[in-house]
Amino acid sequence: MTLDPECIFCKIIEGQIPAEIIYRNENVVAFNDLNPQAPTHILIIPTLHAENAAAISAISPTIIAAMHRAADAIAAERGLTGYRSVFNTGADAGQSVFHAHLHLIGGRGLAWPPG
Ligand code: AMP
Repeated sequence: MTLDPECIFCKIIEGQIPAEIIYRNENVVAFNDLNPQAPTHILIIPTLHAENAAAISAISPTIIAAMHRAADAIAAERGLTGYRSVFNTGADAGQSVFHAHLHLIGGRGLAWPPG
């Protein structure tokens, strides 16, 4: 499947609902999280619909790599000295939107282990 008309992140890709887009190329779109957990909290999503990171890995390792490259490029552009990249996979892990997305989180000290 390319895009899912019912998916909120597919609608952001298509420009059907607004988002603060930070970066885009043929493989990924990056935009500010609506409910930021840190000064930088950006979601990086593939431009095709797959429900989680495992699914997108199976479809295209190239796209997973592109998501990480975009995260690193955005972090470098912002001068982040460290950042966290997170994929929540499954409701038990806190996934609430079932279109794969990498959370890029930084700009403050980050505790470990996460909650
Ligand atoms: P997760 O809980 O890992 O599935 O993350 C979903 C993230 O999407 C949450 O951090 C939400 O704040 C964020 N989110 C949901 N809807 C939007 C939206 N329309 N624009 C930007 N971020 C969103």
